[in-house]
Amino acid sequence: MTDRHFELLLRGGDVADGTGAPLRRADVGVADGRTTLLPGDAPATAARTYDASGLVVTPGFVDAHTHSDLTTLGGAGDALAHAAVLQGVTVEVCGNCGDSAFPGLFADFDAFALAHAAAGRANHLASLVGHGSLRAAVVGHEDRAATHPELKEMCAVLDAALAAGAVGLSSGLIYTPGSYADTAEVTALAAVAARHGKPYVTHLRDEMSQVEAALEEAVRIARDSGAPLHVSHHKTAGKYAWGRTERTLPYLERLRADGMDVTCDVYPYTAGSTALAAMLPPWAHDGGAAALLKRLADPEQRTRMRAAIAEGVPGWENTVGNGGWDRISVAGAARHPGLQGRTIADIAAEQGADPLDAVAELLLAEDGDVTIISHSMREDDVRRVLAAPFTMIGSDGVPKPGLPHPRWAGTFARVLGRYARDEGLLPLPEAVRRMTGATAARFGLTDRGVLRDGAHADLVVLDPGEVADHATFAQPLLPPSGIRLVVVDGAVVVEDGLVTDARPGRVLAC
Ligand SMILES: [Zn+2]
Repeated sequence: MTDRHFELLLRGGDVADGTGAPLRRADVGVADGRTTLLPGDAPATAARTYDASGLVVTPGFVDAHTHSDLTTLGGAGDALAHAAVLQGVTVEVCGNCGDSAFPGLFADFDAFALAHAAAGRANHLASLVGHGSLRAAVVGHEDRAATHPELKEMCAVLDAALAAGAVGLSSGLIYTPGSYADTAEVTALAAVAARHGKPYVTHLRDEMSQVEAALEEAVRIARDSGAPLHVSHHKTAGKYAWGRTERTLPYLERLRADGMDVTCDVYPYTAGSTALAAMLPPWAHDGGAAALLKRLADPEQRTRMRAAIAEGVPGWENTVGNGGWDRISVAGAARHPGLQGRTIADIAAEQGADPLDAVAELLLAEDGDVTIISHSMREDDVRRVLAAPFTMIGSDGVPKPGLPHPRWAGTFARVLGRYARDEGLLPLPEAVRRMTGATAARFGLTDRGVLRDGAHADLVVLDPGEVADHATFAQPLLPPSGIRLVVVDGAVVVEDGLVTDARPGRVLAC
């Protein structure tokens, strides 16, 4: 019998195969971009043999939730572009929270995929279709219901994108223009996803004081449309909702027991990150970005916004009303780098200004483009969501310059190191399943997320004793330790903390 010959052979490692099964000793051969599992010491030769003894070999991580749609298309810089793959992420699921790069920046899925093919990338992207992007393209940024022909048009654009390879429909019902839609509009679109067997993925209309009502809306949309439901970055944030995961998780559990296909993802931090403009009431955005800036320049409109934040607006999440400007810090403000890392309350106090005025001036000076970090969650809620068996790991990375949230560079190593190993919240093979097999199955990534014969050779070799995150709010892009080797479609893309020259990544069509 002749020896099997591989391009790459990982010898002597313990395999966590992405199903949650216990670690088992096996060698992993890679040829033609696919994997073969071999019993330890099976006869085999390879162009390159890697000694994985003492290490764990896993499928490449699938990041369930990113905003990295454009990160590798130029301008962002290597530190931002490579933070995910340095953690072992071999597929980034983008197009989240209602915001995809098509329709809009790119005409359609194929144009988006072509742009990435031309630019080259180390790992893969899979994209959802954003409801907000559909609405912006068809209805515009107006605060009104879609007409029947507009809804038909949105459904047709979505249908074409899903047929071309997008992995589902996303919504971000706190963000304009998506927040202008009623439940029926989203249900009609989710029905299109259901026909493709693809999920409805949602950033709920409220993750704070009204989180349970918002979750019920998502469940109604899924039930009425027939689409599988995936709740993005599940959290119960703000002082009025702390501890509410004690109710939301059992609710999801009951739905699953009743046969509903519902899952969620989570990032392992007690702070969120979004746009500063999202702290303003929906009506302030009516008409789009230019209209918002015009209102921000008007003292009377500022007074209205201040009142809306103080008193609330029915159906609007109102992050600041659920916390305060002292919990909101600036993450990215290109023309004001000195403000990055400081809270809005602190900035306003220094200026002797009202916080809303400080926010308005900053947004005007930055053409509306300011990202923030919101320290809005409690550790026990985060841990509870992480421990739920239907939860997947998603960074919710917002890869923008400045001091972005450390989750983009730290999420996966933090779950494996801090939560799985150090705190024992879940066993390593189970933590791996939540970042591989479960996620690949949710988004229909065939033959990925599992380590078995014939699967795509997306692989991570990690040191289970050493894996740890190092990214912090002060140094958000510090790479993790313990990720030894990352392989995408059989090509080594990361070795000992460095990104190689290989660019096998592309936009996956599913
Ligand atoms: Zn979101």
